[in-house]
Amino acid sequence: MLARFHQLRRLLDLWRSEHARVVDAAAVSNLERVRWLSAVIASLNGLVVLVMAAQLSVSPANAQTHRWQVALLLAHAGMGLAMVACGVASHRFRHASRTRWGYVLPRLVVALGMLFSIAVAVIDQWVTPNITPFLIGCTVISVAIYIRPLIALYVYLASYAAFFVAMGWTQANATLLLSNRLNGVAACIMGWALSVMLWRKFTTIKLQQMQLEASNLQLQDKQRELERLTRSDGLTGLFNRNTFVELAENELNRAQRQGTATAILLMDLDYFKRINDTWGHPAGDTVLRHAALVTSSSVRSTDLVGRLGGEEFMVLLPATSLEGARRAAETVRRRMEANPARWNGLSIPVTVSIGVTGTTASQKRDFDSLYHDADQALYAAKQQGRNRVVAAPGA
Ligand code: GH3
Ligand code: MG
Ligand code: MG
Repeated sequence: MLARFHQLRRLLDLWRSEHARVVDAAAVSNLERVRWLSAVIASLNGLVVLVMAAQLSVSPANAQTHRWQVALLLAHAGMGLAMVACGVASHRFRHASRTRWGYVLPRLVVALGMLFSIAVAVIDQWVTPNITPFLIGCTVISVAIYIRPLIALYVYLASYAAFFVAMGWTQANATLLLSNRLNGVAACIMGWALSVMLWRKFTTIKLQQMQLEASNLQLQDKQRELERLTRSDGLTGLFNRNTFVELAENELNRAQRQGTATAILLMDLDYFKRINDTWGHPAGDTVLRHAALVTSSSVRSTDLVGRLGGEEFMVLLPATSLEGARRAAETVRRRMEANPARWNGLSIPVTVSIGVTGTTASQKRDFDSLYHDADQALYAAKQQGRNRVVAAPGA
């Protein structure tokens, strides 16, 4: 018995935490529902007002029926106006502050709906003992507006109390009064049960939807990260060879169309093998990362910087003449020389040899041809003693 009780408490706690996560979504959904619900109810109210007005104007009725017609006309006219006001408000606030209005308006509609259905059932007692309006009110409210189970319980309890008292005002027959009050209990229990069922269904679907959206976002993040990893070099974070070549070819095509010059720098660290041999590969890796950082921070953010492999880097400079490229290469070379890499408290001097070449738009040279010339220039720089910039002769 006690175990069952704890089980139930755990379930209710779980429900409470789940409900707290979906209340905002329910408010937004309720606001949308109030828009069409108020239009439907206001139309029905208008119809009844017309029928009652026609009845009152054509056929003279006995005092009891006349009283019923007038009361019904007034109740429907009042409800109709209130529904029009709610409909206009829900339409107006459907975008801005919809969560706040999603809490206020649906609650107002629930209160009005319950009061109205009680009022009509009470008025109807002058001509019929049935309580159909109250039954309809309980059902429509439970189906149309999402309400948290505990709040729904208060709504149906309060409604029943009002119904119980108000029935006594117009139903004089004690047996019919008792029957109606009992039927009212059934209507409220049915309404509440339906409301709880629909709320739980909404919660389950909404939570699944939220979970799906969250995992979709996670998946997109992972996909972006994967894309980044396949496009960049793992050690330095620069573009890897394939990506660099692809981007460089695109850039050369674009430059040809736009009639601008393009230049490339092919760089190779000097005596890098010695660094590995002297301090080991981890130190060599640090030097490579350092060289990548010095290079990319020395050129423009619109220039492409890639690691072709080993200790070879390439920079593509869009809209740059050969002379401009030579100056940029000189800047990189000087900064590399002036900034030794730091590794385990040691200062490791790094120098770089750079081959420079370029093409004007009219020369229409492709990437392979530029790479070939830059490689020759780099070879010449190495031959001439390293730590220098050499431009390709044909460029
Ligand atoms: P040079 O001045 O003629 O360019 O001499 P070098 O020693 O720099 O040139 P070489 O091509 O003889 O040596 C390149 C070295 O780069 C050989 C290889 O061990 C090292 N290397 C290539 N890739 C990596 C890497 O990812 N990490 C490290 N630490 N070393 C690498
Ligand atoms: Mg080298
Ligand atoms: Mg090399």
